[in-house]
Amino acid sequence: MNYRSVLFVLIIATALQGSVANAAPKFRRPFGQSVTVLNFMDHDSSASCKTYDCRTGCATGVGKSYGDHGGTDFDLAVDSALYAGANGVFESRYDGCSNTGTLISTCGGGFGNNVRMKHPDIYSIYGHMKNGTPINVANGTIINCSQEIGRSASSGRSNWPHVHFELRTAPTSATTSIDPYSGTCSQSTSYWVSVTGTAPATTCASPPAETCNGVDDNQNTIIDDLESCWTPVYRFWDTSMASTARSRCYGTSSSPPSLCSGYALEFSGPAFYVYRNSGIPGTVELIAFDKNQDHILTRGDESGDIAALTQAGYTRRGTLGYIWSSTSTAPTGTFFKPSGANTSSVRNLRRFSKNPPGIHLFPNNPAETAPSGWSNEGVRGFVFSSRW
Ligand SMILES: [Zn+2]
Repeated sequence: MNYRSVLFVLIIATALQGSVANAAPKFRRPFGQSVTVLNFMDHDSSASCKTYDCRTGCATGVGKSYGDHGGTDFDLAVDSALYAGANGVFESRYDGCSNTGTLISTCGGGFGNNVRMKHPDIYSIYGHMKNGTPINVANGTIINCSQEIGRSASSGRSNWPHVHFELRTAPTSATTSIDPYSGTCSQSTSYWVSVTGTAPATTCASPPAETCNGVDDNQNTIIDDLESCWTPVYRFWDTSMASTARSRCYGTSSSPPSLCSGYALEFSGPAFYVYRNSGIPGTVELIAFDKNQDHILTRGDESGDIAALTQAGYTRRGTLGYIWSSTSTAPTGTFFKPSGANTSSVRNLRRFSKNPPGIHLFPNNPAETAPSGWSNEGVRGFVFSSRW
């Protein structure tokens, strides 16, 4: 069997092109081997064929196309590693097809064993994988560019080992296929990071690093992921005081704030984490105050407290971050849990107060008791802690 005798028939797609907003990422070659394109995407809506560079004729050999082919077929030996072409998230998979397909197979919708990823404004599909190799993770799991997501074979509607790589603007609509190659008979913008001849580069695009700004900087479809908005809060205490009446300070590094010089770190890790982006519904601002080397946290929406504290000589030190309000549902999901927190559960942040004005917020650890002379005012929100 040689290339010229083989029809690499895959999934049926029309040659209609979808439209893609500028936010769509650029893709790397989804494997490491050298490039032989068996079939390009078909840009002819009739039964005949036309490649991105306007070459016509169907399936006459390497480097052409065949009717309604929605992706690009790269020759690839069985069991070659397949890589995510760009940052994104896992969207779907199919597994269980024989590694040796046929031209009439409908296994996996014709794609055989396959993985589909979601990116900003576009989806990528990797078809004809080896049985048992499509990455098996929860929907929405972050997948980085170049991460291995499966291995190649010839499963599904295929009779030659290769990978079918396809871009779409709608995940299950074959009429929304996008050709990664730009050309006179394709769109003017390439979706490859770079391409030499017909060989896409193996380097990933370089989107900015994710920062806490309400924007999907790293182009993986998730806003402010990778814990970019989480800040650890450390707790310090004055060891010269009786344990039940110790003044406490809070800071965002493991060294005491300057006004708490000499205080000792109370726990080996952060006391809790706060979320810095105010754009998340249900979060409440945390503000640090200090007086006489004592830091107080309170809620920014309680203006009466702020006035009372200011009158009592406390100085506002700015926003530490945000906590989840006790009136909202406790946050769930890995997105909302910093890796330093060793449990998926959250704890109450409980407030204690005393006269003259002073307010402390404590994670409601069972071992935690109200300082002597302080009264418990109830739950003010939820926090993650690394020490539970
Ligand atoms: Zn194909």
